[in-house]
Amino acid sequence: MRILLVEDEQNVAAFIRKGLEEEFYAVDMAEDGKEGLSLATSREYDLIILDLMLPEMGGIELCKRLRAAGLKTPILMLTALDSVGKKVEGLESGADDYLTKPFAFSELLARIKALLRRIPDSINELGLGDLRVDLLSRRVYRGDKEIVLTQKGFAILEYLLRNKGRVLTRTQIIENVWGYNHDPHTNVVDVHIKFLREKIDTGYPKRIIHTVRGAGYVLKLEDDQ
Ligand code: CA
Repeated sequence: MRILLVEDEQNVAAFIRKGLEEEFYAVDMAEDGKEGLSLATSREYDLIILDLMLPEMGGIELCKRLRAAGLKTPILMLTALDSVGKKVEGLESGADDYLTKPFAFSELLARIKALLRRIPDSINELGLGDLRVDLLSRRVYRGDKEIVLTQKGFAILEYLLRNKGRVLTRTQIIENVWGYNHDPHTNVVDVHIKFLREKIDTGYPKRIIHTVRGAGYVLKLEDDQ
């Protein structure tokens, strides 16, 4: 699952990002409201975490603009201001939930999971053939067998599954799994795909992960050509 985190306080942002990545979420970060607006309207996220006090454009204004643009993604608002007025304003601007700083990471995580649970089941489970991925419990099965993946392996598989049948370039995979400012000139994708294949495809009659020469990778059930 992909989360956009719009937070200008770098230590808070780093703390949240680290915790979320340990829980297998892919995280994009924006440091001000304008960057947040640009990312939220140009990329797909499962959830947006929005700080209330932001440079360029405040969290409430950003939230209003996203809802006015028709964005339905769950939004969780963060703030240091523990006042009823701001909470009401935040929720009225279109946020789905509210958390006051400082907070325990476990509480943030519980609220994120609760918001994601509101999304219909079809989005919480992805699959292809006998491969099933439960996005909330982070579990992967091929047939009856559970497959344990690394954090990045899971994120790559999720991204490929969300785009099954489409060829994805290494750059697209890097941007979506590591973030849009990660160095695209590395072989990390190939290394992770190799491990993914060993877990998902080795020993099964129908392969799922296919290499498209000179282009990238695609998830499909057909045999290699
Ligand atoms: Ca702030």
